[in-house]
Amino acid sequence: MRNPMPSTRTNLLFLRRRAAALGTVVLVLALAVAGVLRLTGDSSSAPPTGSGSDSSPDPGSTRFVPKDAYLKDACALPPKWVRYIWRGWDASKASAQDIIVVPQPRNYVGTFIYTAHSGPYDYLQRIPMIWYGPGFITSSGHVTPDREVTIDDIAATQAQLLGMEWPVDRPSEPITEALDGSVTRPKLMVTISIDGGGFNDLEQWPETWPTLRRLMEQGTSIDNAVVGSSPSITPAVHTSISTGTYPRFHGVTAIAVRQNDGDIVGAYADDADSPGATVADPTINLRTTTVPDMWDLHTGNEAKIALVTSGNYTLGLVGHGAALEGADKDIVAMHDKEEWATNPTYFSLPEYVNTEVEGPQRFIDATDRMDGKADGKWRGHDIDLDASPAFPPWENEVAFEIMEREGFGEDDVTDLFYMHYKAPDAAGHKYNMIAPEQGDVLASVDAAIGDFIARLDDQVGAGNYALVVTADHGQTPLEQGGWPINRNELRKDMSERFHKEGVDLPLLQRSSSTVLFMVPEGLAANGTTPEAISSFMSRYTIGDNIPPSTDPPAGYEGRLNERIFAAVFPGRTLPKIVSCTGALES
Ligand SMILES: [Zn+2]
Repeated sequence: MRNPMPSTRTNLLFLRRRAAALGTVVLVLALAVAGVLRLTGDSSSAPPTGSGSDSSPDPGSTRFVPKDAYLKDACALPPKWVRYIWRGWDASKASAQDIIVVPQPRNYVGTFIYTAHSGPYDYLQRIPMIWYGPGFITSSGHVTPDREVTIDDIAATQAQLLGMEWPVDRPSEPITEALDGSVTRPKLMVTISIDGGGFNDLEQWPETWPTLRRLMEQGTSIDNAVVGSSPSITPAVHTSISTGTYPRFHGVTAIAVRQNDGDIVGAYADDADSPGATVADPTINLRTTTVPDMWDLHTGNEAKIALVTSGNYTLGLVGHGAALEGADKDIVAMHDKEEWATNPTYFSLPEYVNTEVEGPQRFIDATDRMDGKADGKWRGHDIDLDASPAFPPWENEVAFEIMEREGFGEDDVTDLFYMHYKAPDAAGHKYNMIAPEQGDVLASVDAAIGDFIARLDDQVGAGNYALVVTADHGQTPLEQGGWPINRNELRKDMSERFHKEGVDLPLLQRSSSTVLFMVPEGLAANGTTPEAISSFMSRYTIGDNIPPSTDPPAGYEGRLNERIFAAVFPGRTLPKIVSCTGALES
């Protein structure tokens, strides 16, 4: 951490650094403990130990923090944010001591190049939800229902399109504004997901999505649709789409998921760091059936079901495959390391996808030429397929081949096709949503959706299919003054304050952009609690988060006392925060 103001605390911090450098933190700990013990009232403005005459907030590990500081901040959160967080949190005994962090928007966990997009903020939560399909979907154009429409409402709406009874215990409600009341079923129902294609991303590049605009007008666009849960992250949200419920209930809360036994695993893989295809496993966390699961059982597996995607994060769109008793192996084509793969234990992948669909080279060549030069580069970059305009049309080639060869939409048993365009998320992480590369990628996805619909008109016929286009989250723009939260520095500062010398057990096991996965035994061994750490972090500032002897980045010099987080609180206190904010009352 870093001291923004010259004061007597500078000396204190200086001492602390020297002490640490000398390998002894006893003095520091004594001071820190003194700081904590000194004041136990609620006067957050009370001067910290050794503060001298400087009245600015005390930086660093010796700052006085009221015991319940975390609660004060959390109870001041907008109720809507808390509602989203509650829906996204799996409240198990194992997660009780984990800590939920809510950065002050537009701060985010990341760097000045790499942003995260998990949070309850409107700019991440607002997503397109466009229904289209003459004969089944109304042409209502832009609609703003007078209620909260969340992404999980897609499932109940699709169940209604399928004429399938919907489980009453799920929050998903049919979006009747989009349904024209047809009693016949479509031959094909298509779900298209634009990864990272939330409204703030689309609005950044308004000229790049004429197809979406046309669909909004010809079909029905739910203009106030939101993700409805936080973290707004790919595995969790895609699972909400098809289960019609929230991560709290379906179990796929994030990319790294804390299980009941305390293990941290991936959303759809044993290893939280493995997005690969062959390890894709719906039995690890997913505890709710999906629309495709139910439809498999409902039709005795007569329905054809397929997903074309990149990696395993979106597996929840399809669900269990053959892991569900009585269901069959749906087609799941996951792009993984230059080829298409699947986990054959639960899913299938036709061989022709890798052997007979032309490779992506012609789309890569077209991308290369987009900037006017055939130099093997796109806007000066080597072309990374997944994050480039070359990927969407190639995914289409694979999807079209599957649809045609398998005869999707041919008979009266409604088939389900799930299409996931990864490129906007990948490009957003790589170049950021404000970079022109993002505009290129969005234009490519929009064109691919146009081609997809032309293909449906051709193969299945207008009047025989219904579709929805949506996105799983918005993105965090650079250059908006957000502070990129340095996780390393945060971890160091936490351990400087709370880690006792001679204790082997760590406090922290792992972190994501919204959760600190704590080590319960480590907390106990260090004589601290997630509440104490949360309170400390609630007062953590930009200045604190800048490593010692590092200058503040340009533009942040005057903001060093600014708090980074809107709130930080232990998972086990969420019921209290739901109650003090009234988050679930409306
Ligand atoms: Zn992402």
